[in-house]
Amino acid sequence: MVSRVIPVDRFDLVIFGATGDLARRKILPGLFRRFVAGQMTPDSRIIGSARSPLGAEGWRSMIREAIHEFGPAESGDRIDAFLGCLDYVTVDATGDGGWADLKALLREGAVRAFYFSVAPSLFGPLAERLRQHGIAGADSRIVVEKPFGRDLESARALNRTLSEHFGEGQIYRIDHYLGKETVQNLMAVRFGNLLFEPLWNNHYIDHIQITVAETVGVGGRGEYYDKSGAMRDMVQNHLMQLLCLIAMEPPSRFEADAVRDEKLKVIRALRPVPAHHIVRGQYDASDSSPSYREEVGNPRSFTESFIALRVEIANWRWAGVPFYLRTGKKLRARHSEIAVVFKDLGHTIFEGDERRHRNILSIRLQPNEGIDLTVTIKEPGQGGMRLVDVPLDMTFAQALGKEAASVPDAYERLIMDVIRGNQTLFMRGDEVEAAWAWTDPLIAGWEARHDVPKLYDQGSSGPDDALMLLHREGRRWRDIRA
Ligand code: NAP
Repeated sequence: MVSRVIPVDRFDLVIFGATGDLARRKILPGLFRRFVAGQMTPDSRIIGSARSPLGAEGWRSMIREAIHEFGPAESGDRIDAFLGCLDYVTVDATGDGGWADLKALLREGAVRAFYFSVAPSLFGPLAERLRQHGIAGADSRIVVEKPFGRDLESARALNRTLSEHFGEGQIYRIDHYLGKETVQNLMAVRFGNLLFEPLWNNHYIDHIQITVAETVGVGGRGEYYDKSGAMRDMVQNHLMQLLCLIAMEPPSRFEADAVRDEKLKVIRALRPVPAHHIVRGQYDASDSSPSYREEVGNPRSFTESFIALRVEIANWRWAGVPFYLRTGKKLRARHSEIAVVFKDLGHTIFEGDERRHRNILSIRLQPNEGIDLTVTIKEPGQGGMRLVDVPLDMTFAQALGKEAASVPDAYERLIMDVIRGNQTLFMRGDEVEAAWAWTDPLIAGWEARHDVPKLYDQGSSGPDDALMLLHREGRRWRDIRA
């Protein structure tokens, strides 16, 4: 199987926050991979920008190191050619110096995009100055990183500010989960096969689980994280987006607004979640590692590093089907999965087979991206009709062989979509606001109750109460495993 690489049009991409962690770890190594793949042509330009007076040479050597550290192991001989596409300009997002230099570097006729890889407080000032100095035109695009607001009010304010300077069709709000190969494959599996869609409803599906488990703690992000927590940092955006893709009605076309209209309907159909369907947790200290509170330096913190929720969608398709969401830090393994658990067979014809056999469609986002479907077959060999459940594995690494290694990672795919002008995998302003409108009352609820997160052991699956969320309904979470 040979993947086709279609070069994108010549572009000038300006990255604000060019010296930051995201730029060095993800954006530039990703662009380098697209360059090596031939998707980014050598006449395209990447212009880094930040306050540090690095100069073009200084930034190039920073990016050379970043590619050595975070880029592909091979293709080292292409680094010089790639670095030749890079330039740098010193700009303070809140000041007036440097904008003329930036403008002078941009070319007519090239796709023009601006990546805001800076703190959210700078999104507004950047948008304003790009317009004020005549740098961004009606065809320019801006890419906005997360977090997009911390509640409905701030998200609305940010949408308003951006919309004073850019049309909705120019704004690309990134959720890198949407750029993952498997997430797009989920749509291909749902809408490209006859097999699944007829079963994709409350007649055949018992429940759906979405897990995003991390082994890392809050690390250096403690100050930010303690004001945010798992609900704001992960559920409102990443898990919500996964839920939307699983639950949405088939869009009439695979096209930006058709897809986003359907996602929005899902968010608007989410029921409020009662307190007993929410479990929040905080990781405790282990022998070798500090507790959450110690790590963030806030001994009285009530912020959750883990959350599990039982969510319902009030529409015809999903009435009565629980969606269990959970995400947390310092858990047993780095493991992200969506599991669609089908109902039990109504009747078995196999005498003596008392076990419950269930089809489960499992979509793994990390590690080992792939999809498998658990099916029941006869155990091979003699000894009568014994049944066994086995996964039909659709792991990309096996099916695609060497090709799997060249599958673009989420950031590089999404940046190429920006250049192509394809917004399908980006969040629209009304989607983000609807997600906050659902999230805000849940947070306000536990704040009003002075709800204290339950402690959980590092390396576990989270607090016991989260297990009970399913146990009391006769269900169990899927294992968190590497
Ligand atoms: P970071 O490491 O703190 O980098 C911030 C960048 O902004 C630096 O290049 C800094 O350079 C520049 N900067 C700061 N103040 C500026 C100003 N007034 N004018 C112009 N440039 C300024 O942050 P990051 O981790 O890369 O994150 C960037 C954005 O991506 C944030 O919104 C973050 O929430 C989001 N994000 C990051 C990650 C990640 O993995 N890192 C993941 C998801 C989302 P100078 O100091 O030289 O100006």
